[in-house]
Amino acid sequence: MIAEIIAVGSELLTPFRQDTNSLYLTEQLNSLGVEVGFKTIVGDRLKDIVRVITTALSRADILILSGGLGPTEDDLTREGVAETLGLQLRRDPQIVQAIERRFTEHGWKMSSNNVKQADVISGATVLPNSNGTAPGQWITGQSDGKEKIIVLLPGPPHELKALFESSVVERLRAKVPKQFLATRVLKVTGMGESACDARIAPIYKRFVDVDTTILAGPGEIQLHLRTQAQSSEAADQRLDSLVGKIEDELGDCVYSDNGDSLEQIVSYYLQMRNATLAVAESCTGGLVAERLTSVSGSSRYFLGGAVVYSNALKTEMADVPEDLIDVYGAVSEQVARALAEGIRKRCGSTLGLGITGVAGPTGGTAEKPVGLVFHALASENGTEVVKRQFPGDRARVRWFASQQALDMVRRKVM
Ligand code: ATP
Ligand code: MG
Repeated sequence: MIAEIIAVGSELLTPFRQDTNSLYLTEQLNSLGVEVGFKTIVGDRLKDIVRVITTALSRADILILSGGLGPTEDDLTREGVAETLGLQLRRDPQIVQAIERRFTEHGWKMSSNNVKQADVISGATVLPNSNGTAPGQWITGQSDGKEKIIVLLPGPPHELKALFESSVVERLRAKVPKQFLATRVLKVTGMGESACDARIAPIYKRFVDVDTTILAGPGEIQLHLRTQAQSSEAADQRLDSLVGKIEDELGDCVYSDNGDSLEQIVSYYLQMRNATLAVAESCTGGLVAERLTSVSGSSRYFLGGAVVYSNALKTEMADVPEDLIDVYGAVSEQVARALAEGIRKRCGSTLGLGITGVAGPTGGTAEKPVGLVFHALASENGTEVVKRQFPGDRARVRWFASQQALDMVRRKVM
């Protein structure tokens, strides 16, 4: 079964308000095994509301409308659904009473336009709204010989959620075929999007029942996998099988298959090895330390370090020889190496990280362009240095550099 979510509200077509209800509804529908095929946003015009409902009926089995159930002139969802289906609206005296009671209880005076919220589409089931005045409505009907379900929900998110959970979930569950949805997110570093896809496409194409989406982000790629099956075990097994094959192909480029971040993975392996880490950061300005310490329990393996932005502090706090900086420049393989080794020794850590580069947008030269970063990781077995040339603005270069640095630690300790 395919669902369409229709968010009604002219404000949702402006830059000032976002349709977040559909994110919540998508999650709920997915967990019932229902796929969302379409999302539509429509302004508060009756003619347009009728048009989108008509289109939705032609392509979806379940229509969930959010918003436009209030008392004002521009709340037209009830009218739109009734007109599309060729049904009457009838004012329900019980709902009128309930609205009046709500106003009296709060010591408010009810203005006359509020009774509009008691209009019920002929044949609809009223879904009581414990958090607001406008009730939701549930209506089923035939279109093209197929049963269609139309649900009207209020726009305010807390009202919509409460109503969905109290009155809609179970009604839907009874209507949809039993389907179980499983999802996985694989995170990959150290390769580009097209290179990754070229290697894994032949694998995931054989899994026609699994939806595979590749999302490229700064310094990593995410593979989102989804499938449905008759039981949750069957859905999980299917994804486990695909994940296994992708991991075999990409090897240690896959750093997580359960949603963990790179800093969480680093945390996991450092603790497993009983290893500690210290950092000397120049162009990342503490970003690596920030990411490491964002993980709870990081004091067990992260000793600390220094942000050594000036040449003087590189020497003072990480023992980088002055003449090394004079001869090779602050952004150089030699200085990165000295930073990593110096901070490791100063802090007495198992591993030392050194990062130096040109974050830009100013300060680049022909020889050392913006985006050039040297990363060094020192251990008792010596020091490895990785030179990278990152694209993008200052924020992206710094993020890429932190990603590369954390990935070097991961590969070292995993
Ligand atoms: P009310 O009785 O409050 O008028 P309503 O059902 O008529 O409720 P709207 O008037 O469409 O709903 O929206 C009320 C408020 O709910 C909006 O100002 C907005 O803040 C929020 N809202 C509406 N639709 C959405 C949506 N799709 N996503 C997030 N918030 C929404
Ligand atoms: Mg309204």
